[in-house]
Amino acid sequence: MRRLLSLSLLLATALAAAPAAEVRPNILLIVADDLGYNDVGFQGGRDIPTPHLDRLAAAGVRCTDGYVSYPVCSPSRAGFLTGRYQQRFGYEFNPKWDATAVTHGLPLSETTLADSLRSAGYTTGAIGKWHLGAHPQFHPNRRGFDEYFGFLGGGHRYLPGSLVEVEVGAGKKAIVSGDAEQSSPLLRNSTEVPEVGELTTRLGEEATASVTRHARDSKPWFLYLAFNAPHTPMQARADQLARFASIADERRRTYAAMVATVDEAVGRMLAALDATGQRERTLIFFISDNGGPMTKRNANASVNSPLRGQKGDVFEGGIRVPFLVVWPARIPAGGTYAQPVISLDILPTALAAAGATRDAKLAALDGVDLLPFLTRKNSAGPHARLFWRMDGGEAFAVREGNWKWLRTYQNTPQLYDLSADLGETRDLAAARPEIAARLASAAAAWNRGLIAPAFGNNPFGGLINRTGLEKDSAP
Ligand code: CA
Repeated sequence: MRRLLSLSLLLATALAAAPAAEVRPNILLIVADDLGYNDVGFQGGRDIPTPHLDRLAAAGVRCTDGYVSYPVCSPSRAGFLTGRYQQRFGYEFNPKWDATAVTHGLPLSETTLADSLRSAGYTTGAIGKWHLGAHPQFHPNRRGFDEYFGFLGGGHRYLPGSLVEVEVGAGKKAIVSGDAEQSSPLLRNSTEVPEVGELTTRLGEEATASVTRHARDSKPWFLYLAFNAPHTPMQARADQLARFASIADERRRTYAAMVATVDEAVGRMLAALDATGQRERTLIFFISDNGGPMTKRNANASVNSPLRGQKGDVFEGGIRVPFLVVWPARIPAGGTYAQPVISLDILPTALAAAGATRDAKLAALDGVDLLPFLTRKNSAGPHARLFWRMDGGEAFAVREGNWKWLRTYQNTPQLYDLSADLGETRDLAAARPEIAARLASAAAAWNRGLIAPAFGNNPFGGLINRTGLEKDSAP
């Protein structure tokens, strides 16, 4: 009896010691803003060299069917930082740029990835675009981030003191010097710091400094690096613009310079990870927050081909994005993963990698831990279905296997077989009514778990269709 007891004690001790023996990884979430699906080398793009991002892709898994949970900036961020469909908590529009707007931001009832990792003993930092509320209660330091450097709005000029082009209504633009959001102060935590140099380069320097500063810490770190590039305004360093002098279209030339600057900034940070011996034990995600806006508001000359549509659409071009997961210590290099995954999976994947548990009292997650799937321990797909809802129910989409069902505004529902028709050109809704009906019914059931938008900031008025401007946009 005593022997049995001591054996089980030994076993229990060994089990308890097992997680500690494994080094908990650092976690790095890199987000580009309004990046086209086809505008980096690892996605097949040809005219913008992105050698550092390409090497990052080769070091891990490229998810070919990687999605975000919303086709515009802020709701997408609310989704991946909570691991929940953001419509569950009324987050369906970009927030107002208004420091007195107490409802325009990530509800305080929600728990962020940073909250959970900080509770698990991580040092947490955010660098770059916030866009989850301008009121002080939504500040990154109050949403789980120990350290913050960046700006609180949805965009920012890249060149200090520069004039920027802003949208002032449907199709109308103005050049202004003092747009409050685009020229909001850069902050280190809550302290204003001067604008110096080109912004993407600066964010990269801050990220490099952060991973270097924490390299010898006893605690692992989590860094959320949110570039606003290549979102408008179209501005880049002169030396980067000169590299792309052969691109005749000015907007595309500037876009290329902006993407190349993101690549350069990522490259410098990765070099710092290598130099400090942290690369193997760092789990890295790279995504864009939504598809490239080609012709709509804030068009930046991005290219989403071969996908249909763009930012603001529930066609693939709005929601399917470059999506990398890299962890040399655990995930084999050089692969692709073709089952649908979504940015909501980043949070549970990171928590699992960190050995962190989520408080059972918190709301259920929609994302899942991707590690068993990316390491091929589980050959089933992580999601039976993925869902999208826009503008309080004006548009819906569902992905189930290779099927994609969608309904936009007042248009008739459409059904596509993505395995044969990635560009969503042949509507099969009439040919396969049973599948269309099943997915419509699934969307309706999912919708019953959502709430109405808690705030709206539609510049074209109301929650209903925006003057046809955001209508279907086939390539
Ligand atoms: Ca965006």
